[in-house]
Amino acid sequence: MTVIRGATTIACDSAEEIRAAVAELLGQIESRNALKRDEVLSIVFSSTSDIHSFYPAKAAREAGFASCSLFSAQEPEIDGSLALCIRVMIFVEKNITPHHVYLRGARILRKDLSQKFNIAIDGPAGSGKSTVAKLLANDYHILYLDTGAMYRACALAALRAGVDVTDEVQVCDLMRGLSLSVVYRDGVQHTMLGEEDVSAFLRSPEVSMAASTISRHMSVRMKMVEKQREIAGKMSCVLDGRDIGTFVLPDADFKFFLTASPEVRARRRFDELTAKGEKVDFETLKQEIAARDEQDSTRAFAPLKKADDAVLVDTSDMTIDQVLGTIKRKMQEKI
Ligand code: C5P
Repeated sequence: MTVIRGATTIACDSAEEIRAAVAELLGQIESRNALKRDEVLSIVFSSTSDIHSFYPAKAAREAGFASCSLFSAQEPEIDGSLALCIRVMIFVEKNITPHHVYLRGARILRKDLSQKFNIAIDGPAGSGKSTVAKLLANDYHILYLDTGAMYRACALAALRAGVDVTDEVQVCDLMRGLSLSVVYRDGVQHTMLGEEDVSAFLRSPEVSMAASTISRHMSVRMKMVEKQREIAGKMSCVLDGRDIGTFVLPDADFKFFLTASPEVRARRRFDELTAKGEKVDFETLKQEIAARDEQDSTRAFAPLKKADDAVLVDTSDMTIDQVLGTIKRKMQEKI
């Protein structure tokens, strides 16, 4: 007899997520071990205590494991344990060298399966942070938190209310009544002001500049940082911003600082905005990015800065695939 192990994670506690994750995990175990269904004697699942909506064993039955015995158990709640994780042990009849399978972020935690992890990606506008952060989050099936969108939403609220973003007293008043939250639908972040999803209004040059100005104020930053730490404290996630590695999560497991030449960064932002049908002038955009760089890196509190222990990646001449490959390689080296 052989025992094969595996683990996966889900993005949220729903029957659909559990069904999909279990089917994927068992499918991969089957194919990597060249298993036939009738060789499987029994499958034992355990899931973390934040999973309630469906039995993984039932998901396995539905995925076609009709004749073996199935069992699901729940793990005790342990401080700092990986969130939303399903583990499996499969007993098979034949004697083989088992290929254990860890998916959706579980693999990277192989060193210690009970740990969650955070990836901090900082850098100036247009350095490629958000693109690479989204891809990493997708590959590891962890959350992506776009912290810039939070500052942008504050700026949007201020612009709408006619508040002078340079005036900390006015901004402070506004922040007191501001209900800002981030919610996730199908793994995509939606930034909310009250009940309104403002995600579509956050990327204009006007909001960008106001975000940079408003984010200088300590009262704004502390409110945003508190939310960011709360989210990152609960689950594995990749956060991109300016101060993640230095201030928000100085103990992040993996830290990167992405940069690129001002010309390349302005070109990327220009392409991004024109692809959305927005009319922008390249030179104006370049100046706006330079002004934001200056403001973000010279502010007194939590400025844009590479953490001493962050890996520097100059993305000027790299494709996104190359950036992603470099980051993953560096992460593997650290594990
Ligand atoms: O990353 P993004 O360009 O969306 O950020 C918009 C602005 O928000 C930045 O120019 C910066 O001033 C501010 N920001 C910040 N700290 C973060 C993320 C963004 O100060 N962690």
